[in-house]
Amino acid sequence: MGGYGSGGHNKTHRRLENFRRIDSFAFRDFVMWDKYLPFKESVKYPLVGGDIIYYPQSMEAVIKEGDSYTDLILSSVPGIDGKSERLYFHCPYCGKRVRYLYRRQERYMCRNCAKLNYASQQKSGMDEMRLKMERIVEKELGYTWWYRDYPDTPIQDLWHIPKPPYMRWEKYEKLMQEFRQLQKDYERAFWMGMARCSMLSNKEKVGIMNHLNSL
Ligand SMILES: [Zn+2]
Repeated sequence: MGGYGSGGHNKTHRRLENFRRIDSFAFRDFVMWDKYLPFKESVKYPLVGGDIIYYPQSMEAVIKEGDSYTDLILSSVPGIDGKSERLYFHCPYCGKRVRYLYRRQERYMCRNCAKLNYASQQKSGMDEMRLKMERIVEKELGYTWWYRDYPDTPIQDLWHIPKPPYMRWEKYEKLMQEFRQLQKDYERAFWMGMARCSMLSNKEKVGIMNHLNSL
């Protein structure tokens, strides 16, 4: 499972500012700098996980990541001097006109939508569940080097946890059972949060509900 929180042990409390973002002013500068623009069918503006593709003839744009395309609505606003022009994005999620879009859960959205999303993840108790899982693994099972063994694995996906040599099997199994239950609860909370995302299509939501029922 990927998505929120899968960035690893030390990145759990990432800040909004650290999320990947795109700047509409920088995008406009990049596009306008291309002197062959009027003759081109499309221009690519590179992003971390894909590109913005801008079509100068229609002045439309899409975000392309792998096989997925998201319409990126642009709007031009005259500057204070009346001569220059400022370009803004519209958040693909809420439609608000903004300069920056942030990448969250594989989508781009405005700061406000990213915050709401973040808050709903916090409220579902997922942070607390992660802390409980860490306590079991590190304190109770004494596996403090798990992060060194599996640097790319977040705690909710950790599978192999060795039994401490002096612990009775019975006790080990009981702790493992508790840990596995937390992992299950965590996955359920993750998908419940996803299912509430208003930017998902109905088809995606049905897929999530089916997955939830299979847990
Ligand atoms: Zn928004």
